[in-house]
Amino acid sequence: MDANQSILEMTGLDLNDIKLLKVPDLFAGGFGEKKDTASALADRVGAPEQLELLGPAGRRIPVEVLSREVPYVDGQATVVAIRDVTERKAAEDYIRYLAMHDTLTSLPNRRGLENVLGQVIEQALRNGAEAAVLGLDLDGFKAVNDSLGHHAGDMLLKEVAVRFQAQLRDADYLARLGGDEFVIVLRSVASVDDAIQLAKRLIACLWQPFTLAGHDVYVGVSIGVALCPRDGETAQMVLKNADIAMYQAKIKGKGQVYEFQAGMETAVRERHDLELDLRAALGRHELQIYYQPLFDVSGNITGFEALARWPHPERGMIPPDRFIPLAEETGLIVPLGEWVLKTACTVAAGWQSDISIAVNLSPTQFQRVDLVNVVMRTLEETGLEPARLELEVTETLLMEDVPKALALVRDLRALGVRVALDDFGTGYSSLAYLHNFPFDKVKVDRSFINKITNDPNAWTIVESIIVMSHKLKLRVTAEGIETGAQLSMLTEHGCDEMQGFLLGRPMPEIQASTRISHT
Ligand code: C2E
Ligand code: MG
Ligand code: MG
Repeated sequence: MDANQSILEMTGLDLNDIKLLKVPDLFAGGFGEKKDTASALADRVGAPEQLELLGPAGRRIPVEVLSREVPYVDGQATVVAIRDVTERKAAEDYIRYLAMHDTLTSLPNRRGLENVLGQVIEQALRNGAEAAVLGLDLDGFKAVNDSLGHHAGDMLLKEVAVRFQAQLRDADYLARLGGDEFVIVLRSVASVDDAIQLAKRLIACLWQPFTLAGHDVYVGVSIGVALCPRDGETAQMVLKNADIAMYQAKIKGKGQVYEFQAGMETAVRERHDLELDLRAALGRHELQIYYQPLFDVSGNITGFEALARWPHPERGMIPPDRFIPLAEETGLIVPLGEWVLKTACTVAAGWQSDISIAVNLSPTQFQRVDLVNVVMRTLEETGLEPARLELEVTETLLMEDVPKALALVRDLRALGVRVALDDFGTGYSSLAYLHNFPFDKVKVDRSFINKITNDPNAWTIVESIIVMSHKLKLRVTAEGIETGAQLSMLTEHGCDEMQGFLLGRPMPEIQASTRISHT
């Protein structure tokens, strides 16, 4: 019967036209099943009906419709209110978009990913096909973020996303889970090799540096691959397994791709648990040091080697061969190494002055901290005479950066500390190291010593190491002596110092102190 100006504008009709229409004619699809106006609009008081209004030129406008019966002249009339909700719809769409996407890179986020992955898995299961999920985590991102700031970190993530995207086909799906974690879904693969090949291209596409605020910046990526349904039939499961494989890639030295395998999970979880335990144990000072005696040819104790021990509340005593590599990978070796050094020096300072103390250094400590400074500080703090401290280094430390390693050995000796080359015979065993580095002594590895009495070749090698070391004015220690035959063979041929279970096992501090006072 009547209409206001707004509805005329929205529909593009004039009042005369609109009067000729029935209310349902204003909407796309009319009122659906409820054909007549009265029944369609009768109860639209509180809850508006969502409909599409027919606008000018066939445009469909999202509207909500409310209606109400009112008294009119000599009876009742229905007033219909139609509200344009285009803007609200757009806002809702945007909110939905935000909930599913990462605002920094505009990539889908975890929720978006889980949605899509759910569908991909369903499809794969239905078609008997296989889909692949790649879990990616950047290597070295934190360093960029810490040194150049969060803004630079954000720029880097955006550019990484662009490079990744360039390696993908249209059907592939890239999401960012937050931080420096990305996931790629390949909807259908012929075999796992498809995913591995892509992963290798993704790793290679980061080799070129990024330029950020005038700096050349390098990051890498570690990638884990899981297949569905093989490695899981739910999005959560496949993502978790891709993550486990990715973690394995990290452990194995970063910048690599690993395929998920059954059993990986336990290994990774155990290692993860062990890492947490070790961190806690360090914080609570639960590690211990055992001391293994070293003897001269006359059988007198010359000193002790400090060997770290970890008495684990549930797993019992964990040997250093298990937790030292873990500490090196996680960087925990730095606090651990400093703790061993300080504790061993403190203990040795309480011993009589002709007993020395040997402490093992890890190459990782050397890479991460100024060792010379740490050693100097420790000597000052503990009051140990420098000449009584012997530091054991391995060939790995020397190989990485020869000039730097040479400077380290020289600087340590300048402090008055002695430096020994440990485990000689296990690595490259380059005799050049003996020539070129100013060591005080060389320790022949126990894998050689335990062969000398029944393997003539092993003996020839040990004998020549002794002869050559003496020419270079280096003392020779044999480690791992377990039999009397080994001991006499070594003493007869001029080996200077002996260490091994035959003569003394690593022992707690109290026992070591008792042994010293009884000599
Ligand atoms: P290493 O420096 O070569 O230490 C000697 C290892 O040989 C010790 O093993 C010792 O217990 C063992 N050993 C000594 N005599 C015998 C023997 O007659 N027979 C046999 N079978 N073994 C013998 P341990 O204590 O298990 O230490 C293993 C390695 O762990 C050490 O080898 C060292 O490289 C590393 N390590 C131990 N403590 C520390 C530490 O505080 N810092 C660092 N960076 N490494 C450490
Ligand atoms: Mg050693
Ligand atoms: Mg050794």
